Amino acid sequence: MNLARQIEQYLPQQLLELVKDISGQAAKRGQRVYLVGGVVRDLLLGYPNFDLDLVVEGDAVKLAQQVAETSQAKLLAHHRFGTAKLRYKNFTLDLATARRETYAKPGALPAVTPGTLKDDLIRRDFSINAMAISLAANDYGELVNHYQGRNDLEHRLIRILHPGSFSDDATRILRGVCYEQRFGFEFETHTAQLLKRDIPMLDTISGDRIRHELEHIFEEDRPELVIKRLGDLGVLPRINPFLKGDGWIAEKFDKARRLKKPTQLASLYFCLLIYSFSERGVEQFLARLNIPAKLSRAMRDTLRLKTKLPLLDRPSLKPSEIYHLLREYEPLAIQANALASDEKEGTPSLIVHRHLQLFLTKLRYVRTSLDGEELKRLGISAGPEMGQVLQILHKAKLDGEVRTRADEKKLALSLSLKL
Ligand code: ATP
Ligand code: MG
Repeated sequence: MNLARQIEQYLPQQLLELVKDISGQAAKRGQRVYLVGGVVRDLLLGYPNFDLDLVVEGDAVKLAQQVAETSQAKLLAHHRFGTAKLRYKNFTLDLATARRETYAKPGALPAVTPGTLKDDLIRRDFSINAMAISLAANDYGELVNHYQGRNDLEHRLIRILHPGSFSDDATRILRGVCYEQRFGFEFETHTAQLLKRDIPMLDTISGDRIRHELEHIFEEDRPELVIKRLGDLGVLPRINPFLKGDGWIAEKFDKARRLKKPTQLASLYFCLLIYSFSERGVEQFLARLNIPAKLSRAMRDTLRLKTKLPLLDRPSLKPSEIYHLLREYEPLAIQANALASDEKEGTPSLIVHRHLQLFLTKLRYVRTSLDGEELKRLGISAGPEMGQVLQILHKAKLDGEVRTRADEKKLALSLSLKL
């Protein structure tokens, strides 16, 4: 099958030229370059994907160095892995030396030696990800399909390439479910059996790698589908006994996505994921996934704040009181609790929800207009006295007792007379 026409239509012109240039330079070195993995799959499915992975039969780092010298690209080379990233103004290209992998023991990182394209394709996770397209001039656009990937794509099947695949690398269990849900595919029968058999092999995978795959899942349009399915298959409890993918998670993930600024969406998903955990459960989870310090703090704060929510359930609370109750928590933890609490009229925790929202949208940004320098000019000396004045000004501003700069000056002066 030749896909030359499809490539020309599918890839943006600029990207196409870059790729052809790389292939041309490789040819002069006697090497062949292929498009591989996700982009080939998505091109056949007709989904956009400009995250290009190129495989070189030969030294990819040397080739990338040469390309970088003759273009505007920035080079990021990993000599140890034989891989390189070329960063252009609008695109990034990943180049890898075709390699053969052998697993000394399950879950370990494989031993890697240079190999052919065929070697490089058989080491991949699923047949649908194990296709390539030649970029060499003599067979440009030719699909390389040694492992029936195209047939599996047509039949909407996810198939591993050998029976030891999940046990070699159990992150493939998580990856497989991700593709199953993203594309609405099914596991091929034997693959499904082996997946279930090899769930315990997740114990051989490092925390960083499991976390990385969860982050990958969190980039999906609807990660809650993947989480639910992982729960149904019994994968989640293998990672942590308290992990669930129920309707509550689905509803809250969906809400999290609708927030105006989902800059830290993945972190928010993590906080929601542990919302029903015990303190011990969270500690186990943080340790198992080697969660970085900042996110750990947000996840711990999420539970700590959850136990304090009754304090916020008083309609008479002043803004400054809400501020003081919440200022010590990570904003992400407050966000997670706001999502977790009810926001429907007449529901028990509506007041709590409103107070959390008020803090997130307004109170945490409130600052006094006067600063230390200006207070000095008003005759207030630096030190504890000034600290006290600033605190009172801030409180008054939170509660709307002072609004303008002039209000603040007046209050500061009256305070300085009293102190
Ligand atoms: P996505 O659209 O999810 O990014 P992708 O196919 O681009 O899909 P990546 O995680 O970017 O997936 O990985 C690129 C390619 O590397 C995959 O297509 C697959 O062939 C291979 N790969 C990634 N992880 C593994 C793994 N754990 N085992 C084997 N092959 C893998
Ligand atoms: Mg990718």
